[in-house]
Amino acid sequence: MRKPKCYVLFSGGLDSRLALQLLKEQSQEKKFDVIAITFLLPFATPCKANSFFDFCRSKHVKQKIIDCTKGEFFKQYIKLVARPKFGYGAGMNPCIDCKIFMLKKVKKFLKDGDFVATGEVLGQRPMSQHYKALMVIEREAGLEKKVLRPLSAKLLRKTIPEEEGLVDREKLLDIQGRSRKKQIMLAKKYNINFPSPAGGCLLCEKIFAEKLKDLLKRKKPDEIMPRDIMLLRIGRHFFFEHFKIIVGRNHQENEILKILKNKDEKIFELKSKPGPSVLLQGEIREESIKKAKELVLQYSKHEDEVVEK
Ligand code: SF4
Repeated sequence: MRKPKCYVLFSGGLDSRLALQLLKEQSQEKKFDVIAITFLLPFATPCKANSFFDFCRSKHVKQKIIDCTKGEFFKQYIKLVARPKFGYGAGMNPCIDCKIFMLKKVKKFLKDGDFVATGEVLGQRPMSQHYKALMVIEREAGLEKKVLRPLSAKLLRKTIPEEEGLVDREKLLDIQGRSRKKQIMLAKKYNINFPSPAGGCLLCEKIFAEKLKDLLKRKKPDEIMPRDIMLLRIGRHFFFEHFKIIVGRNHQENEILKILKNKDEKIFELKSKPGPSVLLQGEIREESIKKAKELVLQYSKHEDEVVEK
């Protein structure tokens, strides 16, 4: 007989590691399989790919990767970020819509008796982890009572796998709030290493949000390419009405700007001395070229002629 499957949304952060640990512990006795689902999202900060692969391997858990950094999923995700049904958090982070998006993708794998789990903690994040938001997320994803949050399960309504005895509710937890103390104690108990909570999602950062807002003013969501998002991640950005300039902050960024340059854009640099590469996008005319050249000099340590490269 087919064993039911539990799909754990696994970002690699501490909470999702603990959720996976708790369910893996129950899975042998309760006879279900645990599968980790990791989403690669366009605005995630560089992931600790090896560390999350290693963790799943060490727990003998299969891991599926869903790549939303390109192709159709990228387009869908950008549309969602541009016009979220449930609005933004402090930055341009549409957390409720983002979670619904991920759950809807996972729902496609579900067969009879399967369920989903996440590392969400009640009250940990103001926008998407209060009780009502958690319920909205599972309802909108078409997964009512099929999303188990093992870290806070005892504070939430019973899910179907708990009702049916597939998961033992008594062995789940009742963590709530923003403090990470309990999770850190559990990490010690289970000997779980975890990445620092810094980083995460660029959409939550105010400066990044400004850059993204500007991009959405210049392009329709369906015109935005992965390259545009890569450019938002690097350099100093200067916005003008009909053009935009990006100044590389170091050698690596200068090289990336040159690689990502489109045919209708221009790169300016010092003629023979080291300095920043500057990418000019939008209208190429006297005024924009003058500004780009000024910025090359402004961020250079040397005096030299500025040339187009
Ligand atoms: S922080 Fe970013 S990745 Fe996480 S739910 Fe919100 S929008 Fe999605």
